[in-house]
Amino acid sequence: MLKRHHVIPVRAEGNEGFPTMPGPVILRPVPENFLTPLAEMRPAPGAGFGSYALAPIPAGTIVAAFGGTPMDRVTFDLQNPERRSRSIQIDDDTFLLGPVEREPGDAVNHSCDPNCGMGGAAQVVAMRDIAVGEAITFDYAMADGSDYDEFDCVCGSAVCRGRVSENDWRRENLQDRYTGYFAPYLTRRIAYRQAARRLSKRDAETLMVMIDDDPYLALTVAMRTVLGRPRASFETLVRLLPINPSWRSDVIAGDVAALDLLAAMLNEERGGGVP
Ligand SMILES: [Zn+2]
Repeated sequence: MLKRHHVIPVRAEGNEGFPTMPGPVILRPVPENFLTPLAEMRPAPGAGFGSYALAPIPAGTIVAAFGGTPMDRVTFDLQNPERRSRSIQIDDDTFLLGPVEREPGDAVNHSCDPNCGMGGAAQVVAMRDIAVGEAITFDYAMADGSDYDEFDCVCGSAVCRGRVSENDWRRENLQDRYTGYFAPYLTRRIAYRQAARRLSKRDAETLMVMIDDDPYLALTVAMRTVLGRPRASFETLVRLLPINPSWRSDVIAGDVAALDLLAAMLNEERGGGVP
């Protein structure tokens, strides 16, 4: 995919005192990423490039912000690997592909003991005061919820977990340490997991009483409980269930046997088989 550069027209100087004539217009690309003027990008030992504080950076400062082209995973996987390395995941199936050329703001490295966190889907915010010369880092667990950027970590911190993977956001110790600093889509995933629970005996009884009168309502209530999503629709819930695709299609199509089988599964295990 070709990258569209945003441009600002800049009028050439040097014709003061002459009748106004349309001058040549020079098109200058505008950076897509932002790096605070309190920091600079420079080569990092063993990590390509990194960003370093040039002045004290107070906690709460937006240190970097990522621009780029949003696209789904299938499209993203077709892009240049070097650009993919300068990208960020912003939703379950949405990635911001980094600019064509490396920019300041592209180079904020991972650490398992970072000084920054996510201050939004594509903003990096200082979690604490950062001293002059410190590398600016965040933990990629705060932004990554898929396997597009897994690697062995050499951050060297005392709490280094050795491997950065798509499942790190699930770690309860990281959820505690980084509360308020995950990307919004991961904050929602964490909330769903915390709200999810098995059906109580009473929930299961209600399900079996309601199933004949209104199977969609009965199953929606039960699935909302086991998946921790109090506002999700029937179809969304069914798509989230770990069931085989043909069963899923039959449930969505309203096949009575498939609906009954789903009710039985939720009742018998009290939804305990649902992650
Ligand atoms: Zn590490």
